[in-house]
Amino acid sequence: MKFYMPTKVYQENDAVMKHAAEIAAIGKKALIVTGKLSSKKNGSLDDVKKALESQNTEYIIYDDIGENPTIDMVMDAAEKGRNNGADFVIGIGGGSPMDAAKAIALMIQNFDTSSDVLYQAVDLKALPVIEVPTTCGTGSEVTPYAVLTRDELQTKQSISHRIFPDIALIDPKYIKSAPLSVLRNTAIDALGHFIESYFNTAADDYSRMICQYGLSVWSENIPVLLGEEADEETYDSMLLASTLAGMAIAHTSTNVPHGLSYYMTCHKGVPHGKAVGIFLPGYLKAVSEKYQEDVDMVLSMLGFDELEQFSFFIRQVLGEWDISDKDAEIMTDSVVKSPRKLKLVPVDITEDDVRDIIEYMR
Ligand code: NAP
Ligand code: FE
Repeated sequence: MKFYMPTKVYQENDAVMKHAAEIAAIGKKALIVTGKLSSKKNGSLDDVKKALESQNTEYIIYDDIGENPTIDMVMDAAEKGRNNGADFVIGIGGGSPMDAAKAIALMIQNFDTSSDVLYQAVDLKALPVIEVPTTCGTGSEVTPYAVLTRDELQTKQSISHRIFPDIALIDPKYIKSAPLSVLRNTAIDALGHFIESYFNTAADDYSRMICQYGLSVWSENIPVLLGEEADEETYDSMLLASTLAGMAIAHTSTNVPHGLSYYMTCHKGVPHGKAVGIFLPGYLKAVSEKYQEDVDMVLSMLGFDELEQFSFFIRQVLGEWDISDKDAEIMTDSVVKSPRKLKLVPVDITEDDVRDIIEYMR
């Protein structure tokens, strides 16, 4: 067994300001990587700017990272960072800017190479990375993964390099302004991380311990996902759950639901967490053949007596989706051809089983 999670994690109110000196100790000039709007509205960008200014640390801002970031976005930001002498990167936002920040940190450090190295198994260093999450789903602030859209392959894939952030600064107030749809989609992503990590050939006692505790924290937020008003404690526990889920997949990676989700996102425009959630009931059904007791335990930790109740909840939270026969075939094919994800499923899984996972919620 092994446990390796080298990111220093602070989760508290005003985490960014409280650790301004530690941020400044990482480097001399920061490249701040964020999306177009949300970090300006929820106060996270201002906090990071103020923290850097309080330490007389220089910074430049790249605020053009869109959802499901592309290699072009990464290279564009890396060029800006390189030309301005950035020696560390701060990602602010959801998984998209946080993942992009890691890939950008790699490409600034290795600016003389082409973007091909992102997906090559070569040993390269990246600049230090600090992450400030503003959604409660990906856990990217504690994972070594950076998922990018590969336009040439029309899919999404994590880069080949494992880049753990140096510091994660988690302040629950940033998710307060998120609309219910963002809270729902991202919380379901975190749930997917727990489920895919728990039922995973790479799981061990450490990762399962994180999942078990994390699922109980996650389940406290079900009423909010169903429309109840959230309070301070809820935001805190939604972020705790997503960070714990990130720690779990940092050890095991994700498997079939994530593998299927990429098609729904790239070709049908379905947000990441929703695209994952669609396949969770089918995945639980598939692993229940061998792990019925564990599936029952996970369902009961979430407050459900049976799988049908969980499926109903997923539909309630995620709303409508549409999967045609052709979509189902293409998705099945893409996962069957990706032994990497299938190897992580702890039961024997055939092409028909993958079809059944999709079919379960169609
Ligand atoms: P996201 O793509 O980062 O952001 C989705 C939307 O939410 C954007 O429009 C963003 O606006 C907005 N937003 C962010 N924070 C907000 C806030 N506090 N209030 C209101 N709106 C807010 O969403 P995400 O689900 O967090 O990340 C998904 C990405 O992460 C995918 O690319 C996925 O593949 C990846 N992922 C990575 C890992 C990993 O381990 N690294 C794990 C799972 C998923 P702005 O654009 O204006 O900021
Ligand atoms: Fe995810």
